[in-house]
Amino acid sequence: MPDLQEILRTRFGFDAFRAHQQEACAAVADGHDCLLVMPTGAGKSLCYQLPGVARGGSVLVISPLISLMEDQCLKLIEQGFKAARVHSGRPREESRQACFDWRDGELDFLFIAPERLRVPGFVEWLTRRRPGLIAVDEAHCISQWGHDFRPDYRLLGDRLGALRGVEGASGEARPHSPVIALTATATPTVQNDIVRQLGLHEARKLTHGFRRTNLGVEVMELKPSQRGDAVCKLLTDGANLPAIVYVPSRKECEALAARIAEFTPCMAYHAGLSAGNRDDAQAAFLSGDVSVIVATIAFGMGIDKHNVRTVIHTGLPASVEGYYQEIGRAGRDGKPSRAVLMWSWADRRLHDWFLERDYPPVDAMRALFGALSSRATDFESLGAELNLDASTLGGRVDKLSALGAARVDADGFITRGEHGWVEDYQRQVDHKREQTDRMVNFAQGNTCRMAALVAHFGDREDEGRPCGKCDVCAPQRCVLKSFRAPVEKELTVLRMIVGSLLERDNQSTGKMYRDNFDEKQLTRRDFEELLGALEQNGLVYTTQDEFEKDGRTITFRRASLTPAGQETGTELEGAIMLPGVKPAKKSATKKRPASRKRAARGKVDR
Ligand code: ADP
Ligand code: MG
Repeated sequence: MPDLQEILRTRFGFDAFRAHQQEACAAVADGHDCLLVMPTGAGKSLCYQLPGVARGGSVLVISPLISLMEDQCLKLIEQGFKAARVHSGRPREESRQACFDWRDGELDFLFIAPERLRVPGFVEWLTRRRPGLIAVDEAHCISQWGHDFRPDYRLLGDRLGALRGVEGASGEARPHSPVIALTATATPTVQNDIVRQLGLHEARKLTHGFRRTNLGVEVMELKPSQRGDAVCKLLTDGANLPAIVYVPSRKECEALAARIAEFTPCMAYHAGLSAGNRDDAQAAFLSGDVSVIVATIAFGMGIDKHNVRTVIHTGLPASVEGYYQEIGRAGRDGKPSRAVLMWSWADRRLHDWFLERDYPPVDAMRALFGALSSRATDFESLGAELNLDASTLGGRVDKLSALGAARVDADGFITRGEHGWVEDYQRQVDHKREQTDRMVNFAQGNTCRMAALVAHFGDREDEGRPCGKCDVCAPQRCVLKSFRAPVEKELTVLRMIVGSLLERDNQSTGKMYRDNFDEKQLTRRDFEELLGALEQNGLVYTTQDEFEKDGRTITFRRASLTPAGQETGTELEGAIMLPGVKPAKKSATKKRPASRKRAARGKVDR
């Protein structure tokens, strides 16, 4: 086998492999199919580029984002490789030339967008040359359980066989070209799905590098109304800048950005802004002209800023995968950084509401399916027939077509697809709900935050050791959370909860509340907070349970005492600390006096 180190130095200009790159490169150069799961920035591209060079021949790269494709292609050309790309943003003439160059074996790398696989004759053209290697970048897009499913990626499963060819007699037939699938975001479920969808052959699965040693994760239950103040407090400390603040809605995005802009340069970023405004905000943040960006999840794909000190979430993200991607934008320079998550049970309900909006009941989907037939219809008449507005209808048609139950042609005409989609649809909805459940479990968790994240991605080589930096491992290092002893009134309630559990373990939390308290004396929310504190202090644990009512599954929680809780009993004084927000630190930044006055006024106005 060619010397991989040598290729690394001479062809790519790097002195050494980064962690885990060598293992991946060796496996792929050796001809094995491989699924590589490593976080963004870990250097996954090299793991197909280098083995591609080592194996000789041309590498076919499938990539879903035109911007990423352009970046990587141009970088390779700069490094002296022959690389070309074919996607909808390229002049037709150049795409044609790229195809000829591919056929003639002139290219080291050809990048294609997945929707090309739809174009009649394209795959046949590609098969005129066997690739030395096929790379599927952002491979989670093929899985409907992934957080960024692209229906076009599904075509890959079908076409890959023809592209890679087979060798040997049919008995021991083995694919001619190895395939490497790469992603930064795949849980073990999604990983298995990718392997299955792509038909990877005895795939080596490499999942590495999810532990971030310079990132302290801090989670705090906070009422929505308290979060704005908490964010401002954090950001008045210059040590926490630059910062990205993720908010759940556009409205909050604008409001919070305006508020922060009163004391430090800040801009908003969300999908409702014009492309020009978004580019300006991103550029200002990258250059350092602006120290805070307040954004919806639309922000962050492909941004490369190394000195972000803090990533704040003012609401519960929809999935742990998405959350990990977002906090991964802190501390790329390796220096200590924080991720601060604010959440409460109200966030959970908001997600349920989103889910119901985005995934209508099966009956509504059946009505749409029923309105389709083998005769093509257009969006307008379909919308009129079903009495749906364009965006609602568009969303539903997308869902059906992803399930193969509808087909939309290039002119926007829709025909009916296959039956048998209902179960898949239901599973998708369940999966979405489960993702939120897992996020809630993470937020509620009582174990090391980093260890929990690493476990989520199934990094089996990580020993799961505590990070020593998060709010669970090192409460004293928290930037938002501080801890205090409960006051007498709180102690009374805490004793009542423990007393009730001593009498009867494993109680439904809702029933326990109703049996022991009334709304005027103690709100349900305050009750949940105190119960949460007992859990955080390791005295109580809760589990999810469910029952059926009117054909719907209702989930609820049960509380039990831990062994430590049994032992402590109602002797709670000194045994429990409650979380509270840290008082604002005297600002470390030098601020202009005028802006400080404005900031103070802003707070009073609210
Ligand atoms: P990923 O796809 O995992 O997000 P990339 O492949 O885009 O990451 O790589 C991120 C950056 O790391 C790129 O700028 C790349 O040039 C650089 N890089 C990759 N491998 C090495 C290496 N062995 N030594 C130095 N820099 C590297
Ligand atoms: Mg990449």
